[in-house]
Amino acid sequence: MYGESMLRKLAQRTVPQAAILLYHRVADTARDPQLLCVSPENFAGHMEVLRSRYLPSPLSARESWQPGSVVVTFDDGYADNLINAVPLLRRYLIPATIFVTTGFVGDAKRPYWDELADLFLWSAVLPKRLQLPLNGQTKAWEFGLEGPVDPSWNLLDGTSCARQDAYLVLCDHLRLSATAERVETMALLREWAGRGCANSGERRFLTEQELRRLAEEEDIEIGAHTQNHANLALLSAAEQRSEIVEGRQRLQDICGQPVRCFAYPYGTRLSYARLTQRILQKEGFDCACSNFGGVVFPVVSRYQLPRFLVRDWSADEFASRLAEYLQ
Ligand SMILES: [Zn+2]
Repeated sequence: MYGESMLRKLAQRTVPQAAILLYHRVADTARDPQLLCVSPENFAGHMEVLRSRYLPSPLSARESWQPGSVVVTFDDGYADNLINAVPLLRRYLIPATIFVTTGFVGDAKRPYWDELADLFLWSAVLPKRLQLPLNGQTKAWEFGLEGPVDPSWNLLDGTSCARQDAYLVLCDHLRLSATAERVETMALLREWAGRGCANSGERRFLTEQELRRLAEEEDIEIGAHTQNHANLALLSAAEQRSEIVEGRQRLQDICGQPVRCFAYPYGTRLSYARLTQRILQKEGFDCACSNFGGVVFPVVSRYQLPRFLVRDWSADEFASRLAEYLQ
């Protein structure tokens, strides 16, 4: 019924082409409430698995991907990408793409998830009561004499105190807020706490100088990730374009090289729109990565490349998950 070439084409469509991995941080830390860190030891194990069993490939070499190709990417632009990850990438000769949110460069702005963690989870004292308007309703928390939460607590542990509850509710709320509303809510919280939230330095971002050094690495490609880690689906076309294009321009100014790839902040199907993809295409981006799992089949749109989020797994767990993805 089918000719041989048609059967070959159908087979090609169903053979997993490649897997793109999504990391955020490579660091040893007890405090990782969003589960964004992979320890350097585990990361080295992951890279060893990639080097020995797969075909590590750059994101930009999409045309030459084949079954078994694996691409390493990082989101946001934490300094530990350069300090901890690059030496291990070099050791195993693994290329990688690092998507940088320009507003975070040099810690000019901090992401709300880090600021909220410093404030609600780990600050020594909090004012007794917080009352905030959220989505047209008033939300209130009583903190009483609660001290900082256990450093090992993370979002999968559930909540057992007002600090954890406020942290998770506000993270959810701000993820779904347009940039202006997010800025306003954070300003209200800083005023309520009576201070700015000092960065402990444990979770700092790349400086301009470090970003330049990163871009000079032979196998590292820098990608765009907006100016303000914006939830693009909530913005007008003009605002989306500005977040995308100005973020890229600043990266190009700092790194002195063209930036051709993009990763959607948050990256779920609800955090960007068709319009966002059209803007990226029109502005000459080569591809865009999402944050939902899946292998890259030849028919996948290059503006919705799926990625597998990698957690702090041992090398064995990483190997078995990757084998499952690419079976
Ligand atoms: Zn991000």
